[in-house]
Amino acid sequence: MSKLDIVQYGDPGLRKVTSRVIKFDKSLKKLIEDMFETMYASEGIGLAAPQIGVSKRVLVLDVDYPSKRYIDEKTNKEVESYNPLVLINPVIIQKEGQIISKEGCLSFPNVYFDVIRHKKILVRYQDLLGKERKLIAEDDLRCRCIQHEIDHLDGKLFIDKPADATEMKKIIKEAGFENVSSPPSPILIG
Ligand SMILES: [Zn+2]
Repeated sequence: MSKLDIVQYGDPGLRKVTSRVIKFDKSLKKLIEDMFETMYASEGIGLAAPQIGVSKRVLVLDVDYPSKRYIDEKTNKEVESYNPLVLINPVIIQKEGQIISKEGCLSFPNVYFDVIRHKKILVRYQDLLGKERKLIAEDDLRCRCIQHEIDHLDGKLFIDKPADATEMKKIIKEAGFENVSSPPSPILIG
């Protein structure tokens, strides 16, 4: 496995609509392993392929790490809890309600502001082997994280969905990001 560089806002790849994964082969497995390593090393809870410069519909997340820990019964020591999840070609097929809460993004270091998301989602996706699966997420960190990462696959960013656009622009500017366009028009490819 190898830790990859995460691209920051300004990279045109973050505004592209990504391509569907067709081949569930060794190179996909390697990509996913590298994405997990990069995400854990960066202490993120989610990472989408465009953030490492790969324009494919792949995202990884683990909302338990590093916040959740448990006591190992054998050693009686506190250990980290991992709950990795990979979604390939994910599509939100049902959505309802609205929640507003603070989000960050590995492509925007040190930027946090309130973002509007759906409260409940039903997602259809494929797993590492290409098997079709569905999951429901509601009113929690995982629910918001999945929506944030799926947006990345469509060239959308959290700066497109602020609860307060004026406040968001101020925070972005203070963090050193200039020329924020919101909402932008994603570059359509393929
Ligand atoms: Zn992000």
